[in-house]
Amino acid sequence: MYHARLWSVRHARLLEAFYQCFEKVLIRLHPLFERIGYQRLEQPVAATEKVVKGFLFDCRMCGRCVLSNTGMSCPMNCPKNMRNGPCGGVRPDGFCEVKPDMRCVWVEAWTGSQRMREGAAIESVQIQLDWRLQNSSAWLRVAREKGEQRAGSL
Ligand code: SF4
Repeated sequence: MYHARLWSVRHARLLEAFYQCFEKVLIRLHPLFERIGYQRLEQPVAATEKVVKGFLFDCRMCGRCVLSNTGMSCPMNCPKNMRNGPCGGVRPDGFCEVKPDMRCVWVEAWTGSQRMREGAAIESVQIQLDWRLQNSSAWLRVAREKGEQRAGSL
């Protein structure tokens, strides 16, 4: 939903605040998720994530979400899957050279990041995407990775 995607960028600050709370809940749930089994949770959680983020961001379920770093504009909507800034083909009016009726996701990312409290995160370099993670839940990945980190530091 292109219009919902643009709405998300316009409300990047609100979504950032919401996600920060949501992430804290996810991390706290790590022990419970472990007890249930991450593998068992993968399918239902990924299906839910796909519906929610598909609607709000046109999420492509890359498995390693960077929305917090990209002004709530999903970089996987770029036809070239650019995850570290735009290509050289952005039109002067800010539209994509491949899809002329779509605003460049990185123009949107910059706009959204300027609205966010931690918008400077757009400057951090994203590691190469591991395509084996495609269609897996980024929420569960965050819960597991940050939950394990938290348990290790206690
Ligand atoms: S960065 Fe990945 S997980 Fe996040 S919205 Fe885009 S495709 Fe989905």
